[in-house]
Amino acid sequence: MELLTDHVLSKDEIDTRGSMDIYDVIVVGAGIEGSSTAYQLAKQGKKTLLLEQFPLPHSRGSSHGQTRITRKAYGELEYYTVMMKEAFSLWETLERESGRKIFRETGMLTMGAPGDTFTMGTIRCLQRHGIPHQVMDYQGVKQAYPMIEFPRNYTFVVDKSGGILRADKALISYQETFRRFGGELRDGEKVLDIIPGDTVRVRTSSHHYRAHSVVLTVGAWATKLLPKLQLTLPLKVLRINVLYWRERVPGGYGADRFPVFLQENAVDNYAICLHWGPEVDPDSRDKADDSWVIDKMKRYIARHFPELEAEPAIAETCMYTWSEDEDLILDHHPSWRNIIIGAGFSGHGFKLAPVVGKVLAEMATNKAPSYDMTPFKIQRFRHNAKL
Ligand SMILES: Cc1cc2nc3c(=O)[nH]c(=O)nc-3n(C[C@H](O)[C@H](O)[C@H](O)COP(=O)(O)OP(=O)(O)OC[C@H]3O[C@@H](n4cnc5c(N)ncnc54)[C@H](O)[C@@H]3O)c2cc1C
Repeated sequence: MELLTDHVLSKDEIDTRGSMDIYDVIVVGAGIEGSSTAYQLAKQGKKTLLLEQFPLPHSRGSSHGQTRITRKAYGELEYYTVMMKEAFSLWETLERESGRKIFRETGMLTMGAPGDTFTMGTIRCLQRHGIPHQVMDYQGVKQAYPMIEFPRNYTFVVDKSGGILRADKALISYQETFRRFGGELRDGEKVLDIIPGDTVRVRTSSHHYRAHSVVLTVGAWATKLLPKLQLTLPLKVLRINVLYWRERVPGGYGADRFPVFLQENAVDNYAICLHWGPEVDPDSRDKADDSWVIDKMKRYIARHFPELEAEPAIAETCMYTWSEDEDLILDHHPSWRNIIIGAGFSGHGFKLAPVVGKVLAEMATNKAPSYDMTPFKIQRFRHNAKL
């Protein structure tokens, strides 16, 4: 890491727009997690700067695209169910503040072979938390959704709270509302170095800044930025294909007739994606060969969605940053408490973003987090990470 501690800034280096002021918090990365964190901070009146390396909007990270699935049931991982209850209400708050419709309820269908732990865990979770749901057998599911075909011995359950989040609208809503609350957003400005201290210094491609705390929500680039802060976490960056199939008969799988859907693969009304892909470098992700993913998905569609055309009509890509145990990483840096990290969202972080933003903002302002942070601590990787 380049140390700038004794570096005297030249006139050119001093940001004429006032960067020598000390921010309460600088948030690095304006994906959904950083944007929701910055929004929470600005809403509380904190002097907040949100920095993004690419000109906005962009489609190079993990938060772009039309839709994401949301749901309350989380298999056996009930700490997420508890967080999702608040996330639903915070999404509603954002809808009111932005004037945009972000959530659409469709129900969420989960299915699995007899004894499938995720499906059975989902049913138990829905029962324990009193979330409206319906367990169905093959006959029931064929009656409700004749356009799909799955084995007769499967168990099916619909979490009635599930639905679609309009991802692009959610992201722009957080960024606009953040600005409306007085936050400063600078895009096209890449953070190159972070110099720890009581006051943290941040060097970007064009300016220097200072803040009492810094929150790093840099998505796949955590694999590049954190090692500069002597922290290497067990994260894998995967390139994920989002495939759109045309219906043979228009409207058959419309959001008013068919719920969002989860088996081992995540599927929503407009797009279907396999929850895995080739491991990539975030700065050269399109070099990867992922024809095997598309072949696998074509076979899946032919078997289970007979009323869709056999070939995908549109293919888009996105990135997952996979933590080893698929749990989020929400913690203080092990050496510097005023550097806070939100990473490893493992393909399920969008729906949680309002609560992630809330707890990262709490950590950045020395408040006790509203939730038990044990599952999200960096220390869980102490045997296989450089801390
Ligand atoms: C295909 C796909 C489907 C998904 N489906 C779902 C779903 O159905 N439900 C769900 O809940 N979740 C889902 N997810 C996961 C969810 O979208 C992600 O967990 C979430 O978007 C992660 O957001 P992020 O802010 O961490 O990352 P990003 O959106 O990548 O944001 C990080 C930002 O940091 C910026 N940055 C990086 N380095 C720097 C730097 N040095 N300086 C300045 N800026 C920097 C990047 O440019 C980027 O804009 C899905 C993800 C994908 C890819």
